[in-house]
Amino acid sequence: MSYDRENIFAKILRGEIPCDKVYEDAHVLAFNDINPRRPVHVLVIPKGNYVCHDDFAAHASDAEIAGFTRAVAAIARQRGIDESGYRLIVNTGDHGGQEVPHYHVHIIGGAPVGAMVSD
Ligand code: AMP
Repeated sequence: MSYDRENIFAKILRGEIPCDKVYEDAHVLAFNDINPRRPVHVLVIPKGNYVCHDDFAAHASDAEIAGFTRAVAAIARQRGIDESGYRLIVNTGDHGGQEVPHYHVHIIGGAPVGAMVSD
């Protein structure tokens, strides 16, 4: 599993293309999805070069994993959807429908999100 340094989120991390940033810390960058599916749709990405959840879980440090996990919840609170609820989506690989090969979590809320999986 090799990391493609030219993927679009790598370019955002390097500042080569802009994003609508909502949060940043030492380990994490978060920005609004360009094609939001609900009123709140934030993408949270680690600053390290990890392809997918499998790569992140296997190779990120404990500090990166803890920081990332806490940042996801903090962003949801910051966006005011912690009480109403939200869905976290991590698409991984082909069957998961992952389009961008840099690990990311979708935070989706602000309105009911609907069925977990469409049939
Ligand atoms: P996934 O299918 O999980 O890889 O999701 C990729 C997500 O990235 C999609 O929801 C896209 O709308 C979003 N996306 C693609 N390019 C950009 C961009 N330049 N800025 C923000 N979101 C993007």
